Amino acid sequence: MICPNCGTNNSDSTKFCITCGARLDAGAQQAAQQADYQPSAPVVMQPMNNQPLTTGQFFLMDLILAIPLVGLIMCFVWAFGDGSNPNRKAWAKAKLIWILIGVVLTILFVVLFAGVFASIVNRIAYSY
Ligand SMILES: [Zn+2]
Repeated sequence: MICPNCGTNNSDSTKFCITCGARLDAGAQQAAQQADYQPSAPVVMQPMNNQPLTTGQFFLMDLILAIPLVGLIMCFVWAFGDGSNPNRKAWAKAKLIWILIGVVLTILFVVLFAGVFASIVNRIAYSY
C-alpha cells in the first residue's frame, strides 16, 4: 500500500507508514489513488529556500544592488525567478517598486524642466 502522505510503498499488512507514520486505511488509499493523478508533486520540503534570510544575505543583497546594471538585473531575477527565497522575492519586489518610482519621478522632473526651459526660450525669442 502506498502511503498517501509521503509515497512510501509499504506492505499491505502494515497499518501505519514505515517512513512517516501516517495511517494506511481505506480512506488513505483512496487519497493515494487521487494523488496518483498528480504525480511527481510530493510535498518536498525546501529548507534552504524557506529559511529566514540572514544578516549576511541582506548585506550581500544590498551590496549587489549597489552595482549599477548588475543590481537591477539581479533584482529582477530575485523578484521573478523560480525557487527564490520568499523573503528575498518580496524584498526584491519592494526594491523594484522604489526603482520604478525613482524612474517615474526622474521622467516627470525632466519633462517639467524641459517645459519650463522651452517657455523661457519662447519668451526670450518673442521679446526680440
Ligand atoms: Zn508515509
